[in-house]
Amino acid sequence: MPGPSAADVKNLASRCGFDLCGVAPAEDFDELQFLREWIARGYHGEMHYMERTAEGRADVRAVLPSARSVIVLGTLYNTPQRASTGNDQATRASIARYAWGDDYHDVIQARLTKLVKSIRDITGHFEHRAYVDTGPIQERVYAQYAGLGWIGKNTCLINRDLGSWLFLSAIICDLALDPDTRALEHCGRCTLCIDSCPTGALREPYHLDARRCLSYLTIENKGPIPVEYRPAIGAHAYGCDICQEVCPWNRRDAVSNDPAWQPRAGLHAPRLLDLWQRRDDELRHLLKGSPMKRAGVRRLRRNLAVSVGNSGDPEAAAALEGSREETSLDPLVREHVKWAVEQLDG
Ligand code: SF4
Ligand code: SF4
Repeated sequence: MPGPSAADVKNLASRCGFDLCGVAPAEDFDELQFLREWIARGYHGEMHYMERTAEGRADVRAVLPSARSVIVLGTLYNTPQRASTGNDQATRASIARYAWGDDYHDVIQARLTKLVKSIRDITGHFEHRAYVDTGPIQERVYAQYAGLGWIGKNTCLINRDLGSWLFLSAIICDLALDPDTRALEHCGRCTLCIDSCPTGALREPYHLDARRCLSYLTIENKGPIPVEYRPAIGAHAYGCDICQEVCPWNRRDAVSNDPAWQPRAGLHAPRLLDLWQRRDDELRHLLKGSPMKRAGVRRLRRNLAVSVGNSGDPEAAAALEGSREETSLDPLVREHVKWAVEQLDG
C-alpha cells in the first residue's frame, strides 16, 4: 500500500478537527537539550516525572526507535468570551482559559485516534505513538520544526495567525513524510510577558521557573502554597494566563467555535464566594469532564481560600470563619483558610 504524503496527512488532520498540522523530522534537535538544563536548575519544582522522562524527551526515538517523522497538531481553544473583566475582578475566580471547556486530553485523544485510523486506511499498519500533553515528548520544539510557530519568551508556542491559545499534540511515526520548514521567531525586542509576570517566574527570556509560576503553584503543586506568593495569586484560583493575555500575538482575536472549548456553566469568572460555598460533592460534579479535575477538589479549595483572602470582600471573612470550624476540612485547606481570614481581618 502506498504511504500518504504530508499533504494527505494535513487534509485528514483538518477533517479530524485540528486547526494546525505540520511535520518535523524525528531528530534530536539542539533545542531538546534545553530541558536538561532546566531540570538541573531545579525549575521543574516537584514535577519529578520530568526528571524520570527526561531521556525520552530528549529524542522521540527513545520512545519509538523506528520514528522518522513527528506529526504535530495544534488546536485553537480561544473563545469569544473575555477573561473576567469589570470592577469585580478581585471577587471573581480567574480560571485559566484552557480549563473553561471540556477536558482537552479526552477530546484531543479521540481526534488523534480518528486521525491515526484515517492514515491507516491509506497506508495500512504503521508504527506510531500518539500523545496529547502527557507523553514524553517536547511538543513545542517539534512544533517549531514542523512550522507551526515559534517558542515565545513566555515559553508558549506562538502561531502568527492564531496566537498561543493552542493545545499541542503529536503523533510520532515511522512514516517518511516530507518535513516542513522550521518557523522563525517573532518576539523581537518585546518583553511584555516577562514584565507582566506577577511573581518573576520568567527569570529571563525562555526560562520559566515553575516554582514561582501561578500555574504550577495552583495546579501541579500538591502541598501548601508558599506564603510569599499568596498575595500575588490574587483571584487566580486555577492557573494563570497573564503572560499570554499581554502577548501582542494574541490580539488578533482568533477564536474557535468548537463546542468543546466553550466555557462550561460555572467556570467562566464565577464569584469566588459562590464557588467556596459549594459542597465538595457539588465541586466534584463541576469538575467532572473538565481539565480542572487534575487538581481535584482539595487543591481547588486551597486555591479558593487564598483568592478569597486576597479579595477584600467584606462578606468573605464570615463565610471563611464558618467553614474553618468544620472539622471535616482538610488540614491543608484549614491552614490556607487561616491565612485568608488574617488577610481579610487586616
Ligand atoms: S503563567 Fe502567570 S505566573 Fe506563570 S509565568 Fe506566566 S504570568 Fe508568570
Ligand atoms: S509577550 Fe512579547 S516577548 Fe512575550 S511571548 Fe509575546 S511577543 Fe514574545
